[in-house]
Amino acid sequence: MTDIEEIKSRLDIVEVISGYLRLTRAGRNFKALCPFHNEKSPSFMVNPERQIWHCFGCGEGGDIFTFVMKMDGLEFKEALKLLADRAGVKLKNFNPKESGQKARVMEITKISTRFFQECLKVKGGKKAKEYFASRGLENKIIENFKLGYAPNSWNLLSDFLKKKGFKDKEIFLSGMSVKKDRGGYYDRFRHRLIFPIANLSGEIIGFSARAMPGADEKSAKYINTPETPIYNKSSVLFGLDKAKLAIRKKDKCILVEGNMDVIMSHQAGVENVVAASGTALTSEQLRVIKRYTDNLALAFDMDEAGQAAAKRGIELALQEELNVSVIAIPEGKDPADTVKNNPKEWIEAAEKSQPVMDFYFDQAFSKFNPQDVRGKKEIAKEMLNVIGKISNKIEQAHYLQILARRLEIDEDILRDTLRKAKIAKSSGLLSRDKSGKMKVTDKKTKLQERLIGFAIVCPELLKGIIKEIKNNLAVTNPVLKKISDQIINSADQNQLSAAELKILKENLDDELSEKWDLLAMSAEMEIDRGVDAGEEIKICLNELEKIKLGEDRQRLEVDLKKAIQKNDQGSCKLLLGEIDKLDKRRNEIDGN
Ligand SMILES: [Zn+2]
Repeated sequence: MTDIEEIKSRLDIVEVISGYLRLTRAGRNFKALCPFHNEKSPSFMVNPERQIWHCFGCGEGGDIFTFVMKMDGLEFKEALKLLADRAGVKLKNFNPKESGQKARVMEITKISTRFFQECLKVKGGKKAKEYFASRGLENKIIENFKLGYAPNSWNLLSDFLKKKGFKDKEIFLSGMSVKKDRGGYYDRFRHRLIFPIANLSGEIIGFSARAMPGADEKSAKYINTPETPIYNKSSVLFGLDKAKLAIRKKDKCILVEGNMDVIMSHQAGVENVVAASGTALTSEQLRVIKRYTDNLALAFDMDEAGQAAAKRGIELALQEELNVSVIAIPEGKDPADTVKNNPKEWIEAAEKSQPVMDFYFDQAFSKFNPQDVRGKKEIAKEMLNVIGKISNKIEQAHYLQILARRLEIDEDILRDTLRKAKIAKSSGLLSRDKSGKMKVTDKKTKLQERLIGFAIVCPELLKGIIKEIKNNLAVTNPVLKKISDQIINSADQNQLSAAELKILKENLDDELSEKWDLLAMSAEMEIDRGVDAGEEIKICLNELEKIKLGEDRQRLEVDLKKAIQKNDQGSCKLLLGEIDKLDKRRNEIDGN
């Protein structure tokens, strides 16, 4: 047995998913509101027999591994490790030494977090507490984010950790201490506000520490945990462990500049918010965001530094093919201030992000004077550069028009300039055309899927439809066709017993078997919602026949046209008769 099979055999998918969602029984399945899209009635189904899950609303689905990967935003290897631990399976190529070291560092970080939290509560942490209060943080959120205070001492934390049995070297490796030039160590974080940084499962892996207000101005405002066996700063996002579900639900991630912005936003109830903690935004961080959503909204302070950061962020995000928008917050304010003064203002702002193009317009027009010639030239140059990158022609024309109007310059001149500069070469960067991504299953396939789904869940109803399927309601989808062919071929006397159906299913190859399971689950979900299977089968059959009648009619019309052109009266009469027959049958169906 492979590791994967072993883990799967030891863990129950219902139990694993119950750790994340509230599952309720629905026939042979369990159902829940889907965590991956917004919905009011459950279409997220878990099937304990098949050990699979599937959402019939958004189409996500898979086994325990894919669930944990999606839910916790993990790579496959990480999910494997997590579930192996739960199942008590020892992974075959596993390095216990490395894990031992990692576990020690993890433990040190955990204990340090509690230490800092305690320090905030005692007398020495009074100033820090006052600062948090002055920024508008409530106690509940301070607890929730495990905020703390690092005391003004060179060795308090190290001594505490050593008493707990950790060695100097381990403490250093975890980033909590710094090596002295002449040997020995001292605490890295001293007299600072502590913002713990969590991994996706919510375990603390590092710290961002802010200087106390009014402290020595020469020291850095922020210092962070260096790279450690558990902390990789270029891929970590502050707050993601708490934001990931909300990001999925809203299908949007709001990126803010500071940790305080994330925390205050959470306090206001806007939870799909993260920050690039203590570093400039990296592509790696954006790719992590992309596991959850394609839509990124930037909420940066619009001072000069903020604007520059926003612009860098936008370009990087566009390269990662995220849909970027910008949340406008009043100048000189950050989200944290906005929440403190008026939470409603932030809640509203967070809902109304403006397209990134508006942001570029605002920027260009505030940087240069659109009234004088030089200003016009500069604005045109900057904006055409951006507009030229838009691959959708209608969108491009739209923004060209706006630019012309605002600059009071003839549109043709701008278009000409754009062409000449040859920057119109579509780079696809600003394309919002996602038509390629949305695959529309055509109506026919959908009906056939429903039909077969209900039939395999209620084999007693198969009797009626085998004949119909044979009567050339030609199943077109290749996978469906294989299943329906199997049913037809095995069906003796136009009937198939539940036992025969089971054997049939067991002999399918993996791909077909998976499809079969999904069709069955979908039908079971609908039956759970009160749909009558027999009724549904009838409707599907009728709709399919109507589609077929329409197709036949079209063919006959083409033939009729030809016959008319050839003045072939005999054929005309025959064809008209055929068409009439089709129309009659159609009326019959509609009359039902
Ligand atoms: Zn879903």
